[in-house]
Amino acid sequence: MRCALIADIHANLTALKAVFEDLKLRGPIDQIWCTGDIVGYGPDPNPCVEFLRAFDLRCVLGNHDAAAVGMLDLENFNPAAKTAAAWTAGELTAASRQFLASLPTQLALGDYTLVHGSPLDPIWDYVTSPSQAKTCFSYLQTPHCLVGHTHVPALYIYFPENDLCTVSMTPAGHSLDVARLKGRILLNPGSVGQPRDRDPRAAYALLDLDAPSLTCYRVGYDIATAQQRMRERGLPLLLAERLSLGW
Ligand code: ZN
Repeated sequence: MRCALIADIHANLTALKAVFEDLKLRGPIDQIWCTGDIVGYGPDPNPCVEFLRAFDLRCVLGNHDAAAVGMLDLENFNPAAKTAAAWTAGELTAASRQFLASLPTQLALGDYTLVHGSPLDPIWDYVTSPSQAKTCFSYLQTPHCLVGHTHVPALYIYFPENDLCTVSMTPAGHSLDVARLKGRILLNPGSVGQPRDRDPRAAYALLDLDAPSLTCYRVGYDIATAQQRMRERGLPLLLAERLSLGW
């Protein structure tokens, strides 16, 4: 089985479609595994939900998804995020709202646990260092973990034999032979719709459970179109501008 790993789409349909065009070049996909934040910040919340639901989608709840359906207090959001969350909440159809509200905060799929933040706090925690990643492994019921939330791609590998956790912050182009690896993986595939590692291209990964192997990718998309759609909807300019900076 081949799974596309995506996170933090943030209602950026232009980026999401570019990722799926790129996926087409890499052969058939059986499932989409998503670590949250389908909506928030971006101009196309309903089309993104509908686009993804057309696939065999396995998805967990992100903090922006929760905020958009009234499950999270907006007080913890910065002003731009708060404005965008309020706009998104007003924009969601009943079907989109119902779908987002039904998402679990944690999901175990075979050897992988999916959470938005971390296994310690699936909604709010950020995994940004090997020491944090190492702590996460002791909270997992599965060998491996997939996260989102930071919008920064990162591949952490924990080697239990010598209690060592390594990190690659630029996993794009990495192809990992999971079977031969004597370690546990915690992967953030990076953000589809609002990357924050100073690379504005959309990020995603491909997991082949039969091989098993894991490969990370980046794909360019029409950022100007996404920005134009944000301006047309009156979303905060800062959110549009940061797309071209990848920050
Ligand atoms: Zn996010």
